[in-house]
Amino acid sequence: MFDNLSDRLAETFKRLKGHGKLSEANIADALREVRLALLEADVNYKVAKDFVAGVRERAVGQEVMKSLTPAQQVIKIVREELSSLMGGQAEGLNLIGRPPQVLMMVGLQGAGKTTTAGKLARMLAGMGKKPLLVPADVQRPAAIEQLKKLGAQLGVPVHDSDPGGDPVDICVRALGTASRLGCDALILDTAGRLHIDEPLMAQLERIKQKLQPGEILLVADAMTGQDAVNVAEAFHQRLGLSGVVLTKVEGDARGGAALSIRAVTGVPIKLVGVGEKLDALEPFHPDRMAGRILGMGDVLSLVEKAASAFEQEKAQALAKKMAKNEFDLEDFREQIRQIRKLGSLESILGMLPGAGKLKGMKDMQPDEKEIGRVEAIISSMTPGERAKPQIIDASRRKRIAAGSGVTVADVNRLLKNFTQAKKMMKQVSKLGGKRKGLKRLL
Ligand code: GDP
Repeated sequence: MFDNLSDRLAETFKRLKGHGKLSEANIADALREVRLALLEADVNYKVAKDFVAGVRERAVGQEVMKSLTPAQQVIKIVREELSSLMGGQAEGLNLIGRPPQVLMMVGLQGAGKTTTAGKLARMLAGMGKKPLLVPADVQRPAAIEQLKKLGAQLGVPVHDSDPGGDPVDICVRALGTASRLGCDALILDTAGRLHIDEPLMAQLERIKQKLQPGEILLVADAMTGQDAVNVAEAFHQRLGLSGVVLTKVEGDARGGAALSIRAVTGVPIKLVGVGEKLDALEPFHPDRMAGRILGMGDVLSLVEKAASAFEQEKAQALAKKMAKNEFDLEDFREQIRQIRKLGSLESILGMLPGAGKLKGMKDMQPDEKEIGRVEAIISSMTPGERAKPQIIDASRRKRIAAGSGVTVADVNRLLKNFTQAKKMMKQVSKLGGKRKGLKRLL
């Protein structure tokens, strides 16, 4: 699983290493590659976009600059973002409450619903529970037979459903069977269709109302990629799913469904089917899966090297300049570009659910125009002027203002701000020097 994505990411980071020296442009390239790799893995478009934005936001900001070990920070970020994309924490089955606990399996035909019902019965029995399998798919008598066979194989009782009966009645009667047999968990194998249709949904809703299941698990085929995501969305809207069981995961080289379902629907993947046999059902651990995608071996050490080379070099160069009071307008522009790389605040806020509805959001936005204006002014200067702002006299100010489409007052304000910032930096670096001196004295 995820083989293609893992390979693509490894390739991306290898290329980063090939550059010898890393620049921010390389990082931007790498993030673009990561996004393409996600799209190739059939990850939902918006999910991939948000993912990369999230990594960029956290990686290209202060968080990394301030960190003592930026490399570790970057690895952590990518891994955490991948993990949270898939739900973060592993989510167990809800087996609390008064027995019998009812677990309702829903899904399209062929997704692996009946097989998964059997696997789940085996898993619950292994946890010391006494499950009862309930075939509630009356459209397909073969499905009842299939479940009976699975039950016999597992030594788990199967409710004797009437092939001509009403699915809701069958489930209610199964409650009686459960209490007669002393079963404490009911696994309902509901009807599947080739497509989502209204009568099926209505039937499932009725079962839900009557039985009040603690779990409504959608069984979805990982190999169908984004279709599985759409199916999950449709079922969730009607029934309110409590979890997803993703099947055939072992044969899914792309992984798009696993990476997108939680982000798109908000429903956690609780279990994954990794084979046809009855023991091939595993709990889903987002963090472990994220580690697996990144390979944890080669790829991570490459990221580590790449990240440390990039951040340390830059931070050191800047610190040196500040200490020598050589910070010039070129550096100032670089800093502004860094800030802009975070993306607009609007887009960051847009990623928060519900933030779009916040009133007065406009007031919270930084003045993008102002930042753009400052960058334009500095860009209109000659390299000599950027290095030695003190040579910028009245006639130069006029030229720069005309070149960047602003007024002379704007240029004046920028130069004043810059001079103040530089003074402050000088004081800060002096303070640092004093501290060092003090340490030496002590
Ligand atoms: P249903 O129509 O949803 O009840 O689907 P079935 O349970 O009949 O499964 C359809 C096919 O998928 C069967 O051939 C199963 O053996 C197979 N299947 C189910 N789960 C998995 C899985 O996790 N991995 C693999 N490889 N096959 C699976």
